[in-house]
Amino acid sequence: MTRYAQGMTPLEHVRLADHCTRGVGGPARYFVEAHDESAVLAAFEWARARRVPLHVLGGGSNLVVADEGVDGLVVKIALRGVDTREADGAVELTAAAGEPWDELVRRSVDRGWAGLECLSGIPGLVGATPMQNVGAYGQEVSDTVSVVRALDPSTGRIVAFGNRECRFTYRDSLFRSGGPDRYVGRAASDIRGRSARAGGHGRGRHRGRPAQVPFRTAPRLCRARDQYRRALEHVEQVAGA
Ligand SMILES: Cc1cc2nc3c(=O)[nH]c(=O)nc-3n(C[C@H](O)[C@H](O)[C@H](O)COP(=O)(O)OP(=O)(O)OC[C@H]3O[C@@H](n4cnc5c(N)ncnc54)[C@H](O)[C@@H]3O)c2cc1C
Repeated sequence: MTRYAQGMTPLEHVRLADHCTRGVGGPARYFVEAHDESAVLAAFEWARARRVPLHVLGGGSNLVVADEGVDGLVVKIALRGVDTREADGAVELTAAAGEPWDELVRRSVDRGWAGLECLSGIPGLVGATPMQNVGAYGQEVSDTVSVVRALDPSTGRIVAFGNRECRFTYRDSLFRSGGPDRYVGRAASDIRGRSARAGGHGRGRHRGRPAQVPFRTAPRLCRARDQYRRALEHVEQVAGA
């Protein structure tokens, strides 16, 4: 066993219903929370050494776990931290995979950074967003993502994927359907994206570069987000009626 997996002791028979928003689902045979990249690597190596499957859990909003539970090791992604850096008239935002997505959107909108506002109200954590290239109202996370760091199970290393390498398409990416030869992205660790300031000079949408900014001021970004959230609440009310 390599250095990462030494000393890692996963919990056993952990109820996954407690970790999924629908509140249903049987237990994980083994379960561990990863708070940093070395814990992700440790989990990977622990599972590989025992030849048990590795499963990644984010916020559990898009999963329905069967009553019989999950065989193997479930890794709950709990990496936290957000960094921001001003660069070339845009803002570079780096968010760890365990950050709640909607809080990141709210924080961006509150500061007047354009690019994520229509993705407000989407449940889950940051790390899951590149998987299916989450999107809403004409905006997709691929419009702003510049780098995704992810575990490559074929090498056991964390690799940085540029926007093009992520092969984003509609609700899909390399990480979701990477093909039999390169099954990557089972444990994304963080993403970095560029967000234009509202009223900035975005010209056209280029992958991984600031999206064109249709709004002139931060309050309008807030309005876009609020309108989206109201529409979402309405849909939920109708669905629940
Ligand atoms: C009410 C509702 C509204 C939604 N609206 C939208 C919408 O408007 N647009 C849209 O695109 N989606 C939408 N979704 C889908 C959902 O929000 C996204 O799929 C979200 O990204 C899931 O995040 P999560 O952290 O909860 O992932 P989970 O449910 O925990 O996991 C989902 C999948 O992603 C994998 N995964 C999770 N985290 C990682 C990671 N860090 N690394 C590797 N794999 C990982 C898991 O293994 C699993 O296969 C909606 C879902 C709900 C329930």
